[in-house]
Amino acid sequence: MKLVIGSVVSLLLVLVMLGSVVSPVFAVSTPKMKPIMTIQRTELHKNVNIVKIDPILENATPYWMFIAAGSTEKGSVTILKYIDSSKNLTKRERVELKKFVRELWRKYRVKTIRNGNVTLITLNSKAGINLTNEEKVMLEKVAQAMNEYFREKYVKNKNGNVGILWNGNEHKSIIRISCIKWGGISKDYASVAGAAAPKPDTWTQVPPPHGYPDWMWNFIMQVVHSWTHYYNPDWGTGSAPSETKYYADIAKDKHSNGDYTSAYTNLGYASHFMTDVGNPLHTGAEFRQVFLSKLRFGDIKYIHTAYENYVTDNWNSGYVFKSIVENNWYYYPISNPEQATKNLASYTHQYADTIVWTIFTNPDTWQNDQNIKNITENCLLETAKYVLGLVKYVRG
Ligand SMILES: [Zn+2]
Repeated sequence: MKLVIGSVVSLLLVLVMLGSVVSPVFAVSTPKMKPIMTIQRTELHKNVNIVKIDPILENATPYWMFIAAGSTEKGSVTILKYIDSSKNLTKRERVELKKFVRELWRKYRVKTIRNGNVTLITLNSKAGINLTNEEKVMLEKVAQAMNEYFREKYVKNKNGNVGILWNGNEHKSIIRISCIKWGGISKDYASVAGAAAPKPDTWTQVPPPHGYPDWMWNFIMQVVHSWTHYYNPDWGTGSAPSETKYYADIAKDKHSNGDYTSAYTNLGYASHFMTDVGNPLHTGAEFRQVFLSKLRFGDIKYIHTAYENYVTDNWNSGYVFKSIVENNWYYYPISNPEQATKNLASYTHQYADTIVWTIFTNPDTWQNDQNIKNITENCLLETAKYVLGLVKYVRG
């Protein structure tokens, strides 16, 4: 009996000792990291609602959004609210403008066609839209009222500085978490990469190459900050993918030479350009974003700013978007960081119109929209998988 008790005690002792040895090892190792292929992608939220705009409508007039809003009850109410809220319009102008848009909605019919989880907004007739000059003047007033509304609501008390994209904190947070996950030396240098990650937003802005129209110039310089922080997979515009590769390759080279401070600094830079295109508004809806900012009240980008502030405000609290990155243990193996960044942009791009349209038609309540939350989480999860892959690419 004594012997048995003695054995049990020594077994317990062994277990306790093992425990104390094993747990710190678990804490720094990476037992959970799992490589997957993009074709095996599992989305957090399947069948999120997607809004698509028919190019026929979009190409008809820059004012198409105000006409399209008339296709839904919510959209019409919102446009009337923009007009009613304007302090720059006289009472008489407001009355006239509301009468005008109601007539416009009767004249140019727009319809929504729902197919599964995709809603297409398109023209109801083949006649197209041929606005008179008088209509254009009136629509410009509606655009100003809308911009006024967004400026009052989203920018007045916020720091409206351009170019802090996903805001700096998210850039820093995503790469830090990713480095720590891989453990080993990247855990020690996670703060170095984190400190470097927001920096590219402070670098000299790169305009679009010659040959693009003014609105593209405005989009790049005023909305997404720089040609290097953007990529539209449909058009192949923007150089975020090649920037990612440029800095990732420097990082990889420095890492193999044991220059870890430089390696993780450059990894931080590379991750910036990759995480930028994890934001759908850095991958498309260019004209809409410019048009809705109009720049007439200064260099503030209303919808873009509103969305990025929403992600920032819900990063550590509220929806705690950070946890999406923290809870992910999958990574995409990367052999070419440029292609990987293009792939990420292709994924998030599908949501660009939906975000813009939802904010435009629900300026007061879109932050509570479950669909916007789901889209954001899907994009963050995808970004997390690519950034983990990027860290592994650099470490070899
Ligand atoms: Zn950026």
